[in-house]
Amino acid sequence: MTEQDVIIAFGATSAILALVGAIEFLFFDFKKRMHDLSEYKMIVIGLIVAGVIAILARPLVTGAWAEVGSGFALWHLGGITDWYMWPIALLVYEFCYWVHHWMGHKVRFFWCIHAPHHAPESINILVGINHSFIESLFYMPIALGFFSGLFGVDPMMVMLLNALDMLWGTLLHVSDNMVKKKYGILERFMQTPSYHRAHHGKNLEYMDTNYTSITLFWDTVFGTKVELNDNNPVELGITSQVDTGDYLDAHFGQFKKLWADVKSAPDFKSKVAYCIMPPGWSHTGEHHMVSTQKKQARMAENMVQSPE
Ligand SMILES: [Zn+2]
Ligand SMILES: [Zn+2]
Repeated sequence: MTEQDVIIAFGATSAILALVGAIEFLFFDFKKRMHDLSEYKMIVIGLIVAGVIAILARPLVTGAWAEVGSGFALWHLGGITDWYMWPIALLVYEFCYWVHHWMGHKVRFFWCIHAPHHAPESINILVGINHSFIESLFYMPIALGFFSGLFGVDPMMVMLLNALDMLWGTLLHVSDNMVKKKYGILERFMQTPSYHRAHHGKNLEYMDTNYTSITLFWDTVFGTKVELNDNNPVELGITSQVDTGDYLDAHFGQFKKLWADVKSAPDFKSKVAYCIMPPGWSHTGEHHMVSTQKKQARMAENMVQSPE
């Protein structure tokens, strides 16, 4: 694979995303989605701040970090020309993806970085590329690139897998007006827009589920795969108060809330705990974490089933 091939692949990826995004924005129920316009504005400001090129450069930055990681490789797997390496590389890459995304939801500091992606209460291709620049340029490339390299995946393969992930992962966000509810046989092994709808839901059932962006493998292994439930329509967004039309609030509001909690914590241990525990953890012991809420919901359900 030459440098020219890579540039053509990135160009094609960007062109497909831009085309689908433009068709979606202009032709699908535009009037109905007028209320989403403030969110579009917030996302476009984010793209200007971060630089569209910086976001599209994510595979290159990820590849560069993979190069660094491969310098410390724990073992060496086969190279890009060994066909059998592709499924292995995909598994390793997706394992890194699952872990980094799980941490993005379960570690409060990383949630502050990831939350801008979840803030919008609408879903469309632009939401797919709406990431904090900290996530696009640092968190993701280091987590995906460095660690895939460390686990022995060829840096060029990491870069191409990241481009594939960016393309498929962004297409998972196509707007409701373009999306089918279910995708037949694909639903058995691939992440589809329906699984990713659930991931963007603030309904308790859907929170902290479906973490990977290409296949369902690791979500199945770790028990985080949840299908869209027809009886529980997705409410998009996050449970924390956010002005989704305001770039500063959508992208930095969670950091402000974390800082307020750290300041109010009575001791050093609690200050650190606010940063590393899941969102909703409280030094008072009155936690509102997703895990505690799910546990309470299960207990309430059991009590209804066995009132004795
Ligand atoms: Zn997420
Ligand atoms: Zn998403």
